[in-house]
Amino acid sequence: MKELIKISKNISQCTACALSNTRTQTVAGSGSQSAEIMFIGEAPGSKEDLHGLPFVGRSGDLLDELLVSINLDRQSVFITNLIKCRPPDNRDPLTKEIQACKEFLKKQLQHINPKVIVTLGRHAFSYFFPNANVQSSRGQIMPLGELSVFPVYHPAAALYNPKLKSVLQDDFKKLSDYLQNSITNKKISKTPSNEAKQLNLFE
Ligand code: SF4
Repeated sequence: MKELIKISKNISQCTACALSNTRTQTVAGSGSQSAEIMFIGEAPGSKEDLHGLPFVGRSGDLLDELLVSINLDRQSVFITNLIKCRPPDNRDPLTKEIQACKEFLKKQLQHINPKVIVTLGRHAFSYFFPNANVQSSRGQIMPLGELSVFPVYHPAAALYNPKLKSVLQDDFKKLSDYLQNSITNKKISKTPSNEAKQLNLFE
């Protein structure tokens, strides 16, 4: 846990992009250091900015509900965002902000080494697969080097369009099935070559 705390402390002191001027506080992420699933959203919103935690408010409530539906909770996964400070007026994160912040996400991924990365929404998915479409890719495992990425819609999307809630529920069930049917429960070994491949994803 020490390493995650160190990463969070470094995030809290970061001034690498202009969002450091407008944030109330940073939102590093929360959950288990040994999580098999890491959820990555887009950016903190106003409530997250106030509380310092990811996915609070209505989106967070829906994410909690989806986790419970597959017998998980926030303590058994790790939840974070692409960028760790709130963009003003909840605008989309800028490419330069994502680039400035990616080192923190890389470190979190390297330290937690999850079996599956679940991207919440198109921004997080595009980060890993810039040329793919989340609508046609959602609900399936997409290998990327040594990583396994599982894209789903952002919970906030289901708040605006209730039809998407059942899509999210179905996708979480698929995620649960994948985890249960995994041939091996061993985490990806941190061999030097694997680490090199993961590092390359962030260059
Ligand atoms: S968004 Fe990331 S890079 Fe920008 S100030 Fe916050 S922690 Fe630093």
